[in-house]
Amino acid sequence: MFQDLHKGPWEAEEAVIDLAEFARAHGVKYFMISYTDLFGGQRAKLVPAQAIADMAVEGAGFAGFATWLDLTPAHADLMAIPDPSSVIQLPWKPEVAWVAATATMEGELVEQAPRNVLRRLIDEAAREGLRVKTGVEPEFFLLTADGQQISDPFDTAVKPCYDQNAVMRRYDVIAEVCDYMLQLGWEAYQNDHEDAVGQFEMNWKYDDVLKTADKHSFFKFMMRSIAEKHGLRATFMPKPFPGLTGSGCHAHISVWDLDGKRNAFADPARELGLSEPGRHFLGGIMTHASALAAITNPTVNSYKRINAPRTTSGATWAPNSVTWTGNNRTHMVRVPGPGRFELRLPDGAANPYLMQAVILAAGLDGVRTKADPGPRHDIDMYKDGHTVQGAPKLPLNLLDALRAYDQDPTLKAMMGEAFSSAYLKLKTDEWNRYCSHFTQWERDNTLDV
Ligand code: ADP
Ligand code: MG
Ligand code: MG
Ligand code: MG
Ligand code: MG
Repeated sequence: MFQDLHKGPWEAEEAVIDLAEFARAHGVKYFMISYTDLFGGQRAKLVPAQAIADMAVEGAGFAGFATWLDLTPAHADLMAIPDPSSVIQLPWKPEVAWVAATATMEGELVEQAPRNVLRRLIDEAAREGLRVKTGVEPEFFLLTADGQQISDPFDTAVKPCYDQNAVMRRYDVIAEVCDYMLQLGWEAYQNDHEDAVGQFEMNWKYDDVLKTADKHSFFKFMMRSIAEKHGLRATFMPKPFPGLTGSGCHAHISVWDLDGKRNAFADPARELGLSEPGRHFLGGIMTHASALAAITNPTVNSYKRINAPRTTSGATWAPNSVTWTGNNRTHMVRVPGPGRFELRLPDGAANPYLMQAVILAAGLDGVRTKADPGPRHDIDMYKDGHTVQGAPKLPLNLLDALRAYDQDPTLKAMMGEAFSSAYLKLKTDEWNRYCSHFTQWERDNTLDV
């Protein structure tokens, strides 16, 4: 079990919330006890407030095999024990409260469960005096309810980024979700139309990595729910339309002292204001990049976003090689200012917990081994990428990435052997299902050979 089942290592001062009391105080009728499986699926039971006191101790029972966790039908029940520190009352349905759960089985942690993987790495980093804070930038498309096309027929510009009228035509959805984020105290600060027609991004302030992962998870649920309410469909699919810019989910990363007061990544005297530990953390990301793509870019479709040909807007805004630089968005890593860096690799399909876990795992290994990120390249990678010597190309497809992950024993061990073998097995099965699917392209190109 964790140091404390319901508290992060530095949250000793935070009182544990009594969920039954929370229900009484806030008029909550149902708790949604939720966990996220290996494929990012959010699984929940709706538990009436009258039953929450027992559930808070015993957990809600699930047949684990029925979700993506690499469990068998013969396994004992997965008991999802709510973590009260994560509770969020649904702003659009206040009689329901969402609460992230710790997946357990027969009194032990289910090691491969994504939130458990992240929590274990947070504890490990804390033992070395590191407290990671991250922000995420989810991009998504608003589609018609059937998911077939973008929902706004007037959204047709070649360069639609920041389109003022187009964002206003979706004001009802965007402002509703932004209002909710403000109400929840997330410090939301901007919303925009992104680089593809039909594409948007909403931003809120960075936080401790577990809090960011919970918010990210909840954001996806909230965005989909509110879009549905308005007769639309929100998708985080990495590349829903050929030729249009895909949906990334950049992560901004900094590491702080345990009291959260001093940014240990900031050192104005050093290159780009990145301290020595910051540089090593970045070195770990660079070293393990091809392998960690298996997690930050977890679907077949993910690889149509990275390595993509130029989009109709003129740029993909997604990386194709393992390179870093200063304030320049054509690389895998950008250092936008002192004390943090941006990993532009993750996409909308990334599991909110696993993407943070693998960043932590790679970065922590970098700090331990004093990894060197190598030279930075202040060039336009889209135009001059071919001039860079020795920078690995990112994986070309999911199988490539899974193989790179399988061949990275350090990263596999840091993410946990149980997790790594479960993930590789389920994702390889997924790849095989994809490969056994016949496409029109094959007929068009093979019928007459
Ligand atoms: P951009 O589009 O320029 O990459 P955004 O403003 O969309 O940037 O998103 C930046 C994200 O980085 C936000 O979530 C922000 O809170 C976060 N961020 C800012 N400073 C830090 C920091 N020191 N550590 C981690 N995240 C940070
Ligand atoms: Mg049943
Ligand atoms: Mg952004
Ligand atoms: Mg963006
Ligand atoms: Mg960004």
